[in-house]
Amino acid sequence: MSGLGKVLISGGGLGGLALAQALRRGGIEVAVHEQDPSPRTRNQGYRIHIDGNGNAALRACLPTEVLDTILRTSGINGDLVAGYTSDLRQTMAQTFDGLGDDEITHVDRETFRRGLLTGLDDAVHFGHTLTDYRITESGRVRIEFAEGGGDEGDLLIGADGVGSPVRRRLLPQAEVRDLGLRCLYGRMPLTAQTTTLLPADFDRGFIWVAGESGSGVGFAPQRFRDRPVGAVDYLMVAYAATTEQLGVPDDRLYRLDPADLWQVVTAATADWHPKLRALIAHADPDSFFPITIRAGQRLEPWRSGPITLLGDAIHTMPPTGGVGANTALQDAATLAAELLSAARGEKSVLAAVADYERVMVPRGFDTVDSSLRMAGQLFG
Ligand SMILES: Cc1cc2nc3c(=O)[nH]c(=O)nc-3n(C[C@H](O)[C@H](O)[C@H](O)COP(=O)(O)OP(=O)(O)OC[C@H]3O[C@@H](n4cnc5c(N)ncnc54)[C@H](O)[C@@H]3O)c2cc1C
Repeated sequence: MSGLGKVLISGGGLGGLALAQALRRGGIEVAVHEQDPSPRTRNQGYRIHIDGNGNAALRACLPTEVLDTILRTSGINGDLVAGYTSDLRQTMAQTFDGLGDDEITHVDRETFRRGLLTGLDDAVHFGHTLTDYRITESGRVRIEFAEGGGDEGDLLIGADGVGSPVRRRLLPQAEVRDLGLRCLYGRMPLTAQTTTLLPADFDRGFIWVAGESGSGVGFAPQRFRDRPVGAVDYLMVAYAATTEQLGVPDDRLYRLDPADLWQVVTAATADWHPKLRALIAHADPDSFFPITIRAGQRLEPWRSGPITLLGDAIHTMPPTGGVGANTALQDAATLAAELLSAARGEKSVLAAVADYERVMVPRGFDTVDSSLRMAGQLFG
């Protein structure tokens, strides 16, 4: 292939791996450097909603066998998004009929990431934390790792999430705001016994239960179509609240054990309907962890170069609406199409990066805005 040599990707999360799959499929050399020592090092979260844009991006990026693996291990389609009060009165319901079995509506995050890693063993390097980069005299990009050593390529993609060191260096003016919202994220294993606890509708899709102003719990089932060895079906339990509503300062919150976090959720929902309390009571106490909810501020266009960004690294957004991962996947599909065009000699690599950024930046920040509007409606 002419025009484009080796592409470096910092971050082997959802967007970085989808991009790596697409570039590799197009015959471009790619090296992904991921800070985690292995794919299973940390609790990465639970259920991820995949929408039509995410499905289209996955089809564009992935080889058939990888897409098949992800589809096979995705969740059984639900058909409902509904809102409830804490005394279990339905406030809204939207049904989705006619979703084909070839459509992915949600995935388990760890299973999804493992699926995206399929066939990339020699391209993904775990235990490589990017600390810095520089452009060499020959115009290539040199990156350095905290663990020692580095790598060199023709292009660097920062797909390294909300704390992206590539963004900090490339766009020091970029601001990521703490929205003053915290999420305590856990799950209840779905067994024959706990399934009997589910109120009607709670096995059909995403349910938001609004508590007192500024808090609520999102519940949603993850029942695997074909459950991977070691995985369990579960009900996601995501308690979200403003810091005021939560009443636990960050310096304490981030030092609490998972079981203590579960107790916080239990206490916050103590006056809820008994059927809802039963779901919290049967949640796995060890499954909880806290998340700070942030959002990136819209950026003015910058001069394109051999370094660019995708996903949360550039347009972090709150999880309201469930579109952050979908937008990262869209970025991967758009950037891959541009780079493959450059590799075919149809445009220069820099023109490809500029054309990608022209689409990615407004699309990403429009999606941040819509997620923020939804967060405003839910949390005030
Ligand atoms: C509670 C919650 C629920 C969510 N639910 C949904 C949902 O239902 N649907 C949806 O679309 N989105 C959802 N999101 C958002 C979604 O998780 C993110 O938008 C998505 O993961 C972004 O993908 P990414 O590839 O940009 O970043 P990530 O998936 O975060 O990947 C970044 C990777 O970079 C690595 N990294 C970081 N720093 C370095 C470094 N210095 N060197 C090397 N590697 C590094 C990280 O270890 C990580 O693997 C949710 C988010 C939260 C918090």
